[in-house]
Amino acid sequence: MEPSQNMCTHHFDVAVAAYADDAAIAGAAASPALIDDLVTANHILFDQGIVDAFGHVSVRHDHDPERFLLARNMAPATVTADDIVEFMLDGTPVNAAGRAVYLERFIHGEIYRSRPDVKAIVHSHSPTVLPFSVSKGTRFRPVCHMSGFLGGGTPVFEIREAAGDGTDLLIRDRNLGAALAQTLGESSFVLMRGHGSTVVGPSLRHAVYRAVYAEVNARLQVEAVRLGEVTYLSDKEAEAAQRNIETQIDRPWMMWKRRVQSGQASAA
Ligand SMILES: [Zn+2]
Repeated sequence: MEPSQNMCTHHFDVAVAAYADDAAIAGAAASPALIDDLVTANHILFDQGIVDAFGHVSVRHDHDPERFLLARNMAPATVTADDIVEFMLDGTPVNAAGRAVYLERFIHGEIYRSRPDVKAIVHSHSPTVLPFSVSKGTRFRPVCHMSGFLGGGTPVFEIREAAGDGTDLLIRDRNLGAALAQTLGESSFVLMRGHGSTVVGPSLRHAVYRAVYAEVNARLQVEAVRLGEVTYLSDKEAEAAQRNIETQIDRPWMMWKRRVQSGQASAA
């Protein structure tokens, strides 16, 4: 019997994980404080209902902009510092040492490549945001001052335009990551049709804040639409509101961090 190449490929499709060989390179280590913050971000995002067993958060390496940090393939709630893996922007792990990595790491690498201003990225399937990725009638737009980062409305990534019909909707290679980064453009947020969303920020705290408040905005928008015609923030209001509220970014971060570290949270 001929060994089946197809079966092997199929196995990887189902596993939604990847084993990749490490790049044989050395470099400066990321700050322990940055790794700690990334662990905290994983726990906060679970506690706030943005990720469940799936979804991931990354941060750009603080001593090498050509690398980023992301947990190995696991549920965010259980991530510890030992689970953080360093990656090259092309998605090659530097120190996975045989551990499984997220299949969708190309979301992160290709956005970091195209957006030097981006220092952190959250990819999730948060449940109230997702319906906006498939709605043909309602765009995802900011309804209040807390979500000015959504700007004048968010772009939607249609994977059929990049890869045709019949994909599993996952960003499983560099080409799809680059196509997603192109749809994101200069925005902070991109919906991914039938899949979820990705949000970026100039720091981990910004990306986490935006991921949480995107979900809040989605809930508010659904309620507002139920009442009838909606007045959204204008582009100018969104910009002004974002500028102001994001100076306060440490406040929710410290509160959410205390919650996950005090044992009050489900992620602790
Ligand atoms: Zn995903």
